[in-house]
This record gives sequence, C-alpha cells and structure tokens, in this order.
Amino acid sequence: MCRHLGHVGPRPVTLASRVTEPSHSLLVQSYAPADMRGGGTVNADGFGVGWYSDRPDTAHSYRQPVPMWTDASFLDLAGAVSSTAFVAAVRSATVGMPVSTGACAPFRDGTRIFSHNGVVRGWPGSLRDLAAELDTETLMTLEAPTDSAVLWALVKRRLDAGKDPADAVADVVTRTLAAAPGSRLNLMLLTPSVSGAPTLVATAVDHALSWRSDADGVTVASEPLDEQDWTAVDDLHLLVTRDATTVEVAAL
Ligand code: GLN
Repeated sequence: MCRHLGHVGPRPVTLASRVTEPSHSLLVQSYAPADMRGGGTVNADGFGVGWYSDRPDTAHSYRQPVPMWTDASFLDLAGAVSSTAFVAAVRSATVGMPVSTGACAPFRDGTRIFSHNGVVRGWPGSLRDLAAELDTETLMTLEAPTDSAVLWALVKRRLDAGKDPADAVADVVTRTLAAAPGSRLNLMLLTPSVSGAPTLVATAVDHALSWRSDADGVTVASEPLDEQDWTAVDDLHLLVTRDATTVEVAAL
C-alpha cells in the first residue's frame, strides 16, 4: 500500500524536511517501508507532492509515474521549495490499476489536495452504487480509472456541497466501508480555511498512521519519519487539525 504524509505549520518548511531528509522520510518509505501490513513491498509506481505557495489561494503539484528515488530533479527541488501546507505520497499500484501520472496521489483541485493509501475491495463493482451519485461528465473525466480517483470525486462532491472537510471524508469512508467491507481507507485531505490555517484531515482504516506536533507545526504520516515521539492513530479513527497546532482524533 502506498505511503503518504501531510504537514501544516505556522511558517514555511522545505518539502525536503519531511519528504527526503528524515531518517525514515517518505523517500526511504518508497524503497524500504516498515509497516505495509501485507499490501505490497515497495512504493515504486510513482509519487507526488501538492503544496500551498506563499501567494494567497495558490497551490502547486508535481507528480511522476516513476520511483521517487529516480527523479534527481525532484530530490533537488524539494530542498528549494518551502511551504506551510503540503501533502506527499509514494505509490504502490493496486493490482489491476494503471501506472500513470494521473493515478499518482496527491490529487489536486485548486487548493484542495487529496491522497488515498489503501484499496477498495471488490473494485469496481462494489463502488458502483456509490459512484452513481457522480454525474457522467465527472466519471468521464476522472484522472485515472482507479479506486482512489473515485474516492476523490466523492469527497470533492461533498466539499462542493459545502460539507465540512472532516465530515466529507468521514462520510465517504463510512459509506465505502459499508459498500466494500474490508477496504483499506487511509484518506488525507488538505483544504484552505476561510480564516486562519488550512485544515488537514486524515483517516486510519486498516493501515498505519502516526502524527507529531512541534513548533514547526503538525505532521501526519503513514510511518513515523524519525525516532522522535510520534503518536499512532487508532484504527477506524479520523484525525483533524484546523489550526496547524492542535490535533483532534475521533472514532469514525
Ligand atoms: N489503490 C490505490 C492505487 O492503486 C492506492 C494504492 C495503495 O495505497 N497502495 O492507486
């Protein structure tokens, strides 16, 4: 299963400070993950980062369908780009799903950034009824024919309807679990706030997730990035931080 991380903080940090530099960075987790729970061995089918820029209402992303360690230009630019909010992911494609740029998390719609670590069991049939709420054009223009792309479309639809980001993610997770029991649904969503810090939401559903907070902000990651004091998120729980400082964890 893929690995991902999200970070929100009061001041910019480099992407490299979370993605490539720590002793168990996302880069290391791409070739030597520690807690895959039987879902694959390495995360070499692509990677991506989506980050907020210092200009208001502006985000960027970079994705490639290659192992992160092979992209020397990315490894270089990760040290040059600083941001107060970002999501990064390395991918292990689920069997039957394509390897392409559009299938790499994080997915981005303007300043909304999303990642899925896991699998929808019984795909695609199990999601048929839930996906029926999406209009035909949305389904025709998905970035990739993957479970993650459909989950993203379902989350987006709820955000478009004005749902709170945590409620939108929780609703998609609980409905998907009901339709496809046994699914692994570690979702992550970064959205801008109307006032103050961006909101970062992450779920733990049958996969690893930990978080850590310090003066630089809150970081949430599939696996602890280093030897410091990370807190594991219990299974079937949702984590949210709305102020880049305080973390709330609640049962789904
Ligand atoms: N099922 C998703 C995909 O194939 C996520 C994969 C994963 O978490 N390993 O992109």
